[in-house]
Amino acid sequence: MAAEVIDGKVVAAEVVEKVTNATAKLLADTGVTPGIAVVIVGEDPASQVYVRSKGKRATECGFHSVSHTMPAETPEDELLTMVENLNNDPAIDGILVQLPLPDHIDEGKVIQTIAPEKDVDGFHFINVGKLGTGETDTAFVPCTPAGSMILLKKALGKSDLSGLNAVVVGRSNIVGKPMANLLLADNATVTIAHSRTKDLPALASSADILVAAVGRPEMIKADWVKPGAAVIDVGINRIDAPEKGEGKSRLVGDVAYDEAAAIAGSITPVPGGVGPMTIAMLMANTLASACRRAGVEAPTY
Ligand code: NDP
Repeated sequence: MAAEVIDGKVVAAEVVEKVTNATAKLLADTGVTPGIAVVIVGEDPASQVYVRSKGKRATECGFHSVSHTMPAETPEDELLTMVENLNNDPAIDGILVQLPLPDHIDEGKVIQTIAPEKDVDGFHFINVGKLGTGETDTAFVPCTPAGSMILLKKALGKSDLSGLNAVVVGRSNIVGKPMANLLLADNATVTIAHSRTKDLPALASSADILVAAVGRPEMIKADWVKPGAAVIDVGINRIDAPEKGEGKSRLVGDVAYDEAAAIAGSITPVPGGVGPMTIAMLMANTLASACRRAGVEAPTY
């Protein structure tokens, strides 16, 4: 039987609608408007596209949204001063520094300068530590794994993952590790696999929940998938698509979608799966930060 396709566009739209409604209520009840600041250094076209779409979505949600574009040659201390100014700006609840940064800037130093209570990307050590120790109520959780968990729970129709084996392929700080922590917090039995893992196909095919966050186009084949498993494909890979015309390309995930969909119980497509959830969760995190400032409960998703 073909897998249920988990439509990230639909779920992301639901999250954004909830954020928009809660933002209007927050303003009406407390006078607080969530504020987000996006800082970009340099002119990387892909980063510019991301920053523009984050700003547009924030405005649609009813947020106060500012973006600061700094030249590629900006010295590190100028960027740190910009972050500190945003830390001290009472109108800003969420600060996002678009990565990657130019080589002369120490990314880690910049991230650790962001006030943890405004770190809506969830990359500060305080937020990483809270997630790792199970303080998920007050941690900012990185947006891509947070969005992936929502899709997974929709697919499974439950939020307690007791008794289920989860395999996360990829151990990055942005996706793999926080995803593993979230699965563990919801009682899954979790294995993290990576480039040094032995016999990955056999391991993957033991998973009731298989999360791919590798960055290798269509690496995960049908025989890596346990029949009926929930498959969450985080990968976004651009590959040549000569069938669409000369010089054309298309996006694929880390999972060989068509063959895996014939085996899995549910699966996220690429594009249109995890991707749209990331910006939606950024909005959710920023609203949560503003709710904390106002002393009211943030919505859950
Ligand atoms: P990283 O490159 O930081 O991490 C990739 C991980 O995959 C590493 O842990 C690496 O192992 C592992 N890996 C690489 N090759 C293999 C292999 N052959 N077998 C097993 N494991 C392997 O990537 P990210 O975590 O940042 O991103 C992963 C994917 O998710 C990318 O395609 C990225 O574009 C996408 N992504 C999508 C987002 C979204 O919004 N949907 C957001 C963020 C990322 P090792 O540690 O041993 O090197």
